[in-house]
Amino acid sequence: MPQSPGHATQPIVSRHVAVIGAGAAGLVTARELRREGHSVVVFERGDQVGGLWVYTPNVESDQIGLDPTRTTVHSSVYHSLRTNLPRDSMGFSDYPFVAKDDPDRDPRLFPGHREVMMYLQDFAREFGIDELVRLETEVVRVRFVEEEEKWKIKSKQRHKEMDEIFDAVVVCNGHYTQPLVSHVPGINKWSGKQMHSHNYRDPKPFQDQVVVLIGNSASAFDISRDLVGVAKEVHIAARTVKCETFGKQPAYDNLWLHPMIKNVCEDGSVHFQDGSFVIANIIIHCTGYKYHFPFLETNGFVIVDDNRVGPLYKHIFPPALAPWLSFVGIPFQVITFPMFELQSKWIAGVLSNRITLPSQEEMMEDVKALYSSLEASGTPKRETHALDDKQVKYNNWLADQCGCPAYEDWRMEMYYATIKGRLANLESYRDEWETQHLVLQAYDFIKPASNQTTSVPEI
Ligand code: FAD
Repeated sequence: MPQSPGHATQPIVSRHVAVIGAGAAGLVTARELRREGHSVVVFERGDQVGGLWVYTPNVESDQIGLDPTRTTVHSSVYHSLRTNLPRDSMGFSDYPFVAKDDPDRDPRLFPGHREVMMYLQDFAREFGIDELVRLETEVVRVRFVEEEEKWKIKSKQRHKEMDEIFDAVVVCNGHYTQPLVSHVPGINKWSGKQMHSHNYRDPKPFQDQVVVLIGNSASAFDISRDLVGVAKEVHIAARTVKCETFGKQPAYDNLWLHPMIKNVCEDGSVHFQDGSFVIANIIIHCTGYKYHFPFLETNGFVIVDDNRVGPLYKHIFPPALAPWLSFVGIPFQVITFPMFELQSKWIAGVLSNRITLPSQEEMMEDVKALYSSLEASGTPKRETHALDDKQVKYNNWLADQCGCPAYEDWRMEMYYATIKGRLANLESYRDEWETQHLVLQAYDFIKPASNQTTSVPEI
């Protein structure tokens, strides 16, 4: 096995590792752990692998997601969803997400959700990960047994419960399932219906309705454009848009942008902060999600505070429980799959003793230094895991620890070109990609790594 920075002098060992979740993070984690020589069990409560990208028309029994006893649905994907990054930038380093010469596949540069699911399922098949996954098996409890210095996992498959012991646990359960809902004054008496974007699937149920969306995320944007064809009126209440864009939106007869909601009333009215109001049938909260680990018992060593999961060294290891507990996929505003790959390579190398972690105290100092710098820059706690511009440094740090090549420049060029395209034309950036040279550049890199039948993607 290759030596790397921070490499250990202890003998290389194989561990018995549980991975929770078989989305993109869990699948690549399982691959990296097995490559490193560990034995792996992946627990997946769904009936197929792919996580968030497995679309379902089903929605939750409480569509706003406040009732803890509701029936939950994992995926937040809506029918019309296309990726918000070019496919090439999203692929794993040695299994590129290329367009396939297959009429059943979506060749577009920004493909629909099914294509991403199929890519992940191909990946799982190609690397034999399927055989490590226990489908329809939900992890209901994870706790550290001090006497044995092991983790006990209780899982449930249909009505059968099982307890098992593992050396280490990697949490890959995703963080787009537990809705975050903003408080709207007067909402308890408001006569309309409410839901969270987590439960939005398609525009049909909104025929002739007056809909108010809260938020100006990618989801609020996509859903509003989905709705304009069928709803009577669509109103977006957004916090962070420039006020000159408020009002009726050009090119639409029935789409308005407003400042945030001031309050709502029993008569169905929704009042905005600029004094305008509408009588609405439904409010859709496009207000994001909470990190949620209902199965995890750590005696307070890991907590979620205002959407900060911590303390976590490099967003991965809780110092007091490292390396036996780790998380893949916590950072957001990133190109996700290649980051998951680097995070899991690091975890796998640390668990085998090939890579050494600093002491618990040093890791805590690093976490505290991060918190201090965020505080000094006025960054709220809930943005702790937002990397954006910091992702290259982060990924390169991980790559260096693992002894892998540095993070590829062309991925970030695609990332920034997409942001620029989005700002210039939110409506059509996916279909008017103007930086084809970046795709070709990606292809120069991808071709040698790929033995799949490929074609350059369609715009
Ligand atoms: P998930 O895909 O959510 O997988 C987690 C898995 O864990 C699920 O299969 C779930 O069933 C399982 N699980 C959860 N709890 C348990 C349990 N207790 N026991 C057993 N199994 C459990 N990223 C991009 O790169 N490009 C995009 O275009 C993009 N678009 C997005 C659009 C939307 C609407 C959203 C919400 C996110 C988008 N993302 C995008 C980010 C996306 O989250 C990541 O791409 C990635 O798919 C997340 O993978 P994951 O494995 O961390 O989580």
